[in-house]
Amino acid sequence: MEVERCVICGREFDPETEDHEYLEDGIYDEFGYSYLDDELRDGYVCLACVEDLEYYGNRLIYYGHEGKITVVFDERFYGYAMEDYEDFDRLAEILLDLEEIMKLYRYKSTDGWRGHYEPRKNSVGKWVRVIEGWNDAFSGNEYTERVKMAMETFRPLVVVYPRSSNLCVVYYDLWTEKDLAKELAETIIPEKEAFNYGIGLYIKALL
Ligand SMILES: [Zn+2]
Repeated sequence: MEVERCVICGREFDPETEDHEYLEDGIYDEFGYSYLDDELRDGYVCLACVEDLEYYGNRLIYYGHEGKITVVFDERFYGYAMEDYEDFDRLAEILLDLEEIMKLYRYKSTDGWRGHYEPRKNSVGKWVRVIEGWNDAFSGNEYTERVKMAMETFRPLVVVYPRSSNLCVVYYDLWTEKDLAKELAETIIPEKEAFNYGIGLYIKALL
């Protein structure tokens, strides 16, 4: 039996008999995987680590002029898939750009049981985090309607859904390029901030 070691968790497994991903720079599958942690090297990733990422990872959706890229990520690696995506020449460049945003997110523990992922700062490279919010998972409101509209029309837009221990609300962050930041903030929330604990609504422009 041939044994390989998962580069994420260190568990040994037989790649002949167990599903896995092999990570190698420059290889883009339909659903590609790549490292965020510079310490990690090309190698085998066991199915448990891949499933852990897919079920419990943070989610980032890029709405660009070239199409849509959905990414799931934790602090060490990410997986991505393209949807109605066209410009493959620029894919590597765009992923490198998105990595800058992903690398900012760290788990912040608020007590022994609770916490959520949040970025260490609100700008990196050409990107600015314009809006942060959380929303009752079971209801919509005027702001979520505007966010949905921006997903249809505003480009480029990056929506991050950071993982949280709070199952009753969905956290979200909206990022765009610096010179579009003001326009995005005014489109979504001209009054800068709204909070209503009763209906489970918090949204704030960070500019
Ligand atoms: Zn593993």
